[in-house]
Amino acid sequence: MLICMRCGEKKNSHWFPEHITTWCCWCNRCKRTPSGMMPLPQCEQDRRAEK
Ligand SMILES: [Zn+2]
Repeated sequence: MLICMRCGEKKNSHWFPEHITTWCCWCNRCKRTPSGMMPLPQCEQDRRAEK
């Protein structure tokens, strides 16, 4: 489990980019949200396919 530093949600790592850095741990949903906006609703495109 990882905690997003932008939305503060704790969720499984497949909602995060494959290579995350500890100083900027943002989920995929927050990464595609323009700055200054409320986070977009999380949807299926934010889920990273597990290999
Ligand atoms: Zn987030």
